[in-house]
Amino acid sequence: MRVALLTGSNAPDRETILQRTAALLVERIGRLVAHSAICTSSAWGFRSERDFANQALLLETELEPEQVLDEALAVEQIVGRDREAESRERELTGERYASRVVDVDIILCEDRVISTPRLRVPHPLMHEREFVLRPLCEIMAAERHPLLGRTIEELYNALKTNAQKI
Ligand code: AMP
Repeated sequence: MRVALLTGSNAPDRETILQRTAALLVERIGRLVAHSAICTSSAWGFRSERDFANQALLLETELEPEQVLDEALAVEQIVGRDREAESRERELTGERYASRVVDVDIILCEDRVISTPRLRVPHPLMHEREFVLRPLCEIMAAERHPLLGRTIEELYNALKTNAQKI
């Protein structure tokens, strides 16, 4: 199975962090088929002084999606995500999201649709987020969203058009 992941970080050394994260994901999940550039964008959903960096990775894996999630969470731990610090920051700022060292999301697992308490694939917000679609478009523009029936490129163009209308 081919799984598309999105990594993100807004730590000061985010480029190095994303490179290390990619290397660990490949080691634990499977062969790297394609990767996007490291793209930067403003923080989404909360105010932050630092921009985010995101990268899309396409991996070939023998694992089941839930196992991919276990490995992704393990890599977040290794690279140093501090969920307690995030929760303290959220309490302090009253915002829903917080700065984080690294975040790994599963975006697509080919045409599979998964909805369990732990895992939702396709990622439910992928088509609303420029920072997901832009890097994803670099590596799989022609892939179709299994629920929306549109390609990643079409979803990205639709999002950009809507953003211009606002
Ligand atoms: P977050 O703290 O926002 O990174 O959310 C992490 C939690 O979201 C994980 O512990 C997962 O159980 C859950 N989750 C649900 N769907 C996904 C997905 N597609 N990719 C990654 N995590 C997911």
